[in-house]
Amino acid sequence: MNHYASIAAALEAENLDGVLLTGEANRFYAAGFFTPGEDAAALVTRKDAVFFTDARYTEAASRCLEETELREVKPGKGLTDQLREVLFLKGVHRLGFEDASMSVRSFRRLEKALSEEKAPPALLPASEALLKLRQTKDAEELRRLEAAQGIAERALEDILKEIRPGVTEREIAARLQYLMLHYGASDMSFDPIVVSGPNGSLPHGVPSEKEIQSGEFVTMDFGCVYGGYCSDMTRTVAVGSVTEEMERVYKTVLAAQEAGIAAVRAGVSGKEVDAAARSVIEAAGWGECFSHSFGHGVGVEIHEAPSAASSSESPLPAGAVISAEPGIYIPGRLGVRIEDVVLVTPEGCRNLTKAPKDLTVL
Ligand code: ZN
Ligand code: ZN
Repeated sequence: MNHYASIAAALEAENLDGVLLTGEANRFYAAGFFTPGEDAAALVTRKDAVFFTDARYTEAASRCLEETELREVKPGKGLTDQLREVLFLKGVHRLGFEDASMSVRSFRRLEKALSEEKAPPALLPASEALLKLRQTKDAEELRRLEAAQGIAERALEDILKEIRPGVTEREIAARLQYLMLHYGASDMSFDPIVVSGPNGSLPHGVPSEKEIQSGEFVTMDFGCVYGGYCSDMTRTVAVGSVTEEMERVYKTVLAAQEAGIAAVRAGVSGKEVDAAARSVIEAAGWGECFSHSFGHGVGVEIHEAPSAASSSESPLPAGAVISAEPGIYIPGRLGVRIEDVVLVTPEGCRNLTKAPKDLTVL
């Protein structure tokens, strides 16, 4: 899998001859081959693509890359030397770079190396165009996103049998990670969040040594990577019993999530989707307790465009995958969040998360 053709079309639209991909996410998105850090680079022009990496990765890269010229970076002939040569050979005069992720130091180095040319190419920011491109998922990307989601859900099914009073948040987090790897994940999308009882009001709390007690909620927010694509889901379950208040909070969050999901459609702004969910929570009197946005895009990165926040004016494009994750957090007492990921379609959306959401008391 590579995305050279769609990048080439974007280059034309942005009036660029090529783009230099130095960050993990865009480099992987373009070439379909993952290398960590800033050691490798991919150059995509309107006609072709070159991948630069060192001897640690060249064999793996040659097995994986398609339609790509592979260049090995050697101590005597570093990345910038080879890049200058290639840019000259391919007549790249307007070069896009990753302004959102390249470090200032790397940028200055690149600028200095290129300035030694007689006619150095102009360096132009390209992160925005790349983010926009990545919003819309193709069939293969969707297949991978759904597979990642499926793995997380198998892990959830297993972990529900293990949650009982006395088990710590950290044990649950560790087991979730093991189970996702066991079912085929290559990595975690992020460190799992497992919070219980009063810790539940910390939306991004870190799993602690706290033991789960009867009468508490346990919120688990987790996801894994499969084929380079991330999943993301949250389920909140109760242990032993629930109070009337816990039940009301849970039902409100679920109703808000359903209202938000019902508002998702290509062309609708993220702001409208957020508002559909938020109004349900506000009407129930917990408006102050929904302290983050409704959703974010998911793909090669766990948080990417588009966003479904109260500040997101731009319309959601068909083919985007976004999370739907309202929550109510009552400081020092309890919290509930429910999160699915949905595919935006012209008619509405398709929920990629299949795990049940009715209030579960274990
Ligand atoms: Zn999440
Ligand atoms: Zn999320």
